[in-house]
This record gives sequence, C-alpha cells and structure tokens, in this order.
Amino acid sequence: MTTLQHSTDVLIVGGGTIGLSAAYHAARRGLRTILVDQFPNQGSGPNDLGSSRGLERMFRILYAQPERVRLVETAYAMWHELEQHARVDPARPLLVEQDMLFFGNPDVSTFEGNISNIQATMDQLGVPYERLGSPDEIVARYPIFEKAGLYTPDGTAYVGLVQNNGATINVQRAFEVTRELAERTGRYRQILDRVVHIEQHTSGAWTVTLVNGEKIHAGYLILCPGVWLDSVLAPLGLAAYKKDPAWSIWQMTLGFFARGPSGKDAHWPIWYEFGNTNSDANRLFYGFPDVGFSEETRGKFKISADYTYTTWSSPDQIERSPDPRIIADIQAHLRALVKPGVLDIDNPTLQGACMYSMAPDGDIVLGRIPIAPEATQFRTNASILCMASGRGFKYTPLFGRILVDLAVTGSTPYQVDLGDFSTTRAHVFQRVNDK
Ligand SMILES: Cc1cc2nc3c(=O)[nH]c(=O)nc-3n(C[C@H](O)[C@H](O)[C@H](O)COP(=O)(O)OP(=O)(O)OC[C@H]3O[C@@H](n4cnc5c(N)ncnc54)[C@H](O)[C@@H]3O)c2cc1C
Repeated sequence: MTTLQHSTDVLIVGGGTIGLSAAYHAARRGLRTILVDQFPNQGSGPNDLGSSRGLERMFRILYAQPERVRLVETAYAMWHELEQHARVDPARPLLVEQDMLFFGNPDVSTFEGNISNIQATMDQLGVPYERLGSPDEIVARYPIFEKAGLYTPDGTAYVGLVQNNGATINVQRAFEVTRELAERTGRYRQILDRVVHIEQHTSGAWTVTLVNGEKIHAGYLILCPGVWLDSVLAPLGLAAYKKDPAWSIWQMTLGFFARGPSGKDAHWPIWYEFGNTNSDANRLFYGFPDVGFSEETRGKFKISADYTYTTWSSPDQIERSPDPRIIADIQAHLRALVKPGVLDIDNPTLQGACMYSMAPDGDIVLGRIPIAPEATQFRTNASILCMASGRGFKYTPLFGRILVDLAVTGSTPYQVDLGDFSTTRAHVFQRVNDK
C-alpha cells in the first residue's frame, strides 16, 4: 500500500486561533495552505482542548510597553478589517466594544504590568483614556463596586484607568469568520491528524509525517502548537525549557455569575484588578459583563482569577476540571469588591477550565525558529508562536500575518516591536535531550 502524500506551499501545525489566522493570511497571499490539528473543531469554533477554547477574550490597549501598544493598535485595526472584509452582521461583531476598567493599587507591579506605568505610556503615546483618581470616583462611575473594597489591606486607595474602546472578543465568531474567509480563497484546507515527525531538507523544504503515516511536503512551515509544543520542537532538536524557571501549563478556572436583584440594570465595564493584596501582587482577578455570546451564558458575568494553584509540565498530566479553590477565592473576593445583591455570588451557574502555556518569564514566544537554544541562526522557511502565556488572543490577526512574513520572507516589518517575544531569549528552549 502506498503512503498518501500531500503537497502544499505552507503547512501550519496547530489550528488554534493563531494557527488559523496564519492559515488565512497565507491563503490570502495566494499560497496553497494546509492546516493540521490533532483535535476536531467544536462546530464552527475552536476545538475544546486547546488554549483557544471558550466564548470570550479580553481586548485591551492599556499596556505599559509602547511596543505592545503599537502591536495591539494594529491588531485592533486588523480585527475591524476582517469584519469589513467578511461583511460581518453588525448584530454579531467579532469585537463587542465596551469600556474597560483597569483598577487597583497604582504602584504594585504584577505580571500584567502596573497602573502607573500604563498611564505614563498612554500619556507618552497620546492614547486616550480617563483616569479615576480615587475609590469615590470609581464608585461614582461604576456604582456596582463597594467603596470599602477599593483599598488594599494596608489602606492604599485604588485608582482606575478607563479605556472606552476596550472590547470582548467573540471567540466562536472569530473562528467562524476567519475559517470562512480562508476557505473562500480556494487555497485552504484542514487535515485532522497528529504531527509526529518533522524533517527539513537541504533545499529548505519540509516534510511532516502524520500519525497515520501520511506525509505532507511543504515549502514553508508554521508552528502554533499551544501546550503541545514539545511534540513539534523535538524533531527540531529543541524542547520547552524545563529547568528553573521552567515552562509550565497553568490550569485556569473561571465561573459565570448571574445578576442579583439590585444588579438588573447596572452598567458593568470589562474589568481587570491589579494587586488587591500586598502579600501576593499576582493574585489578580478580572471580569466580563454579559455580552450574550451563548444562550447558556446570557445574563451572566464571567469572572476569573489570573493565577493558579496547579501547574503541569506536560499535556499528558492535564485535568480539565475547574479548581474549587479558585471558585471559592473568586467568591470571597467578589463579596468584598461588589455591592451586596449586584451579583448572585453564592451560585456560580457554570464553571470552566482552560490552560495557559506559560513561558518561564510569562511572555509570548514569537519569531523564527533558532537552530539551537539562544542561537541567533535560524531554520529557513519556518516560524513559531508558542508559550502565548494567557495573552495571545487579542493579537490574532496580526500574529497570523507576522508568522507568514517570517516563514516566507525571513523578516517582518513589525520586528522592531517584537523584542520582548524573542525566540532566542534565555530560558525559552533547551536541547531536546537536556535534563
Ligand atoms: C482562561 C483563559 C483566558 C484567556 N484570556 C485571554 C484574554 O482575555 N485576552 C487574550 O488576548 N488572551 C487570552 N488568553 C490567551 C489566549 O486564549 C491564547 O493565547 C490563545 O488562544 C493561544 O492560541 P494558540 O493558537 O497559540 O493555541 P491553541 O488554541 O492551544 O492551539 C494549539 C493547537 O495546536 C494543536 N497541536 C499541537 N501540537 C500538534 C501536533 N503535534 N499535531 C497536530 N496538532 C497539534 C493542538 O491540538 C491545538 O489545537 C486566555 C487563555 C485562557 C486559557
């Protein structure tokens, strides 16, 4: 029996939000494109096992790093470009724009940044925002919050920054629209299988082997593997960094809470709270108003903790259930933060879990693939995004474009802003057999 062979211009491994976006961009540039993923899509949305699962993601411009602000502003324009191109029904936009409140202790530094630094960057770049300078001002603007909850335990008063064009990204719609546009090119197709081997030829071309033995020959290779990164790095002699500080998979837990009797007509922003305790500045919470992306969650608020008690070092260890300790933390926190009766805190109606692929330094890894850890020589005709560290979704349309730039031409006009995401920084990759 002969082995089935496929041939394509661009092969993308990983059909999460980033891989799908790269596929769309490659196909739009006239390149024949194959996307391989080991898991089936759930309806028209993502598969249910990767980091892209779920209903919504936060889009924000409020960053302390000017480079990141430029990248998200570009991504923002590209989300709208996608909507216009697809003639998206205005009643079902990809991004539901809402005011976004970043609030908390202005000077505490967290892995998501620091409010004072974000404000300084907004001023430096002239990006519009409003400042709420005290708990009184925050409560006057958003009466759902309990004033006494807007102080740290040592009495530091919260301040807030409001971005009027924050947004909730509709995950299912983003997948639906991107896939439809990719299919419309006539140059895109998806294969459901697991990649088990990758080989680069001296010509620079690639051959990828699937678990069923089929082979795909491609000119260019783009890797977007989520938490399964070792499966595609190993054939290239690399692995995720496993020493201290190690790459890890974070179990993230979220809950949906219905409006309480006094919260029926209350206005909610998207909110992200910075460092509410002094003992652990990274005990962070955030919430989404009810934007009705599904019947099941209509009228409910998604509230989550941006920390975990459970990490894993391999996808084989993952348990996909929510952590009751995190749900209890969220409930305790909400009891102090919001006015009584605004939310039904006692009865989270739905709970869920999803994973972050967390870099040792908590930042995204995006670029060309080094031939060895920290080497500045790269594989030709290839690019990678991995360790998205819980922050990749908002950049989806831009990162898809950048990955295609890097694989096909070896460079991207956005390189000047990608330094923090470098694939050659320390403690990102190690040699595959390095213990
Ligand atoms: C709870 C939660 C909240 C988040 N909130 C936000 C937010 O508010 N804003 C934001 O911007 N980001 C957020 N993120 C982060 C964002 O969702 C992720 O960064 C993004 O979804 C990562 O997408 P991806 O395509 O890189 O990975 P994934 O979606 O995990 O896709 C990787 C795919 O690769 C496939 N794959 C891997 N190896 C192989 C192989 N060998 N063969 C075949 N297929 C393979 C997998 O099956 C998988 O489908 C959040 C993440 C979580 C979990």
